Amino acid sequence: MTAHFVQFPCLVDNYGVLVHDSATGATASIDAPDAEAVLAALDAQGWTLTDILVTHHHADHVQGIRGLKARFPDVRVVAPAKEAAKIGGVDLTVNELDTVRVGELAAKVIETPGHTAGHIVYWFEAQDTLFAGDTLFALGCGRVLETPLDTMYDSLMKLTHLPLETNIYAGHEYTVSNARFALTVDPTNVVLKERAAQVEALRAEGKPTLPTTLAIELATNPFLRADNPDVQTAVGMAGADPAAVFADLRERKNKA
Ligand code: ZN
Ligand code: FE
Repeated sequence: MTAHFVQFPCLVDNYGVLVHDSATGATASIDAPDAEAVLAALDAQGWTLTDILVTHHHADHVQGIRGLKARFPDVRVVAPAKEAAKIGGVDLTVNELDTVRVGELAAKVIETPGHTAGHIVYWFEAQDTLFAGDTLFALGCGRVLETPLDTMYDSLMKLTHLPLETNIYAGHEYTVSNARFALTVDPTNVVLKERAAQVEALRAEGKPTLPTTLAIELATNPFLRADNPDVQTAVGMAGADPAAVFADLRERKNKA
């Protein structure tokens, strides 16, 4: 059982990822942002697509499904039960703590409502790898579009209980803008300052800032640090309920 993960940029700022099980040849696409880009990545590796694991219903995550099914008619589309009707062409609907197999690899489904009401993430526990979709980004989180802000905060807190060494892939390369915002609400965080400089340098060279790890995010991502006294002080909310601080942070970022 050997897993390979191949990440590639597509559309304006999306990432696609292929998950390949070399024992069986099974290959999954995490979301389907762009059929052409996913097909090019498959061809480059010589892999055959067997599964598409969808995180949520937004067009930039599902619009490639039709094109991928045209090339690979037997592909299995796995998607959250709560928004499968909005996605269409779904073969398997999943809910909290269901296990999805890609060949011999196994992913646990974690429901993370907030960005969308039915958003799910896929946790490959044995590989210490999480596909966070548009819930958690490097130094940021998704916009909260379909639930109360508290619901998104609860979803993010669920992810903080995964192992610290978990590698985290996300749907978008938003890290430079996230880093600049993070510095405004966590200005005394030395680890954040170092990381922000690294992120700027990586992007200047056209390199990805993802995957990240849970340990790095806990140390630097303000949306996971709403309980941190320095962050609370910086936004004038010392001692406040972390969920309220999170809501304030998310609203500030929306306006930034
Ligand atoms: Zn989205
Ligand atoms: Fe997206």
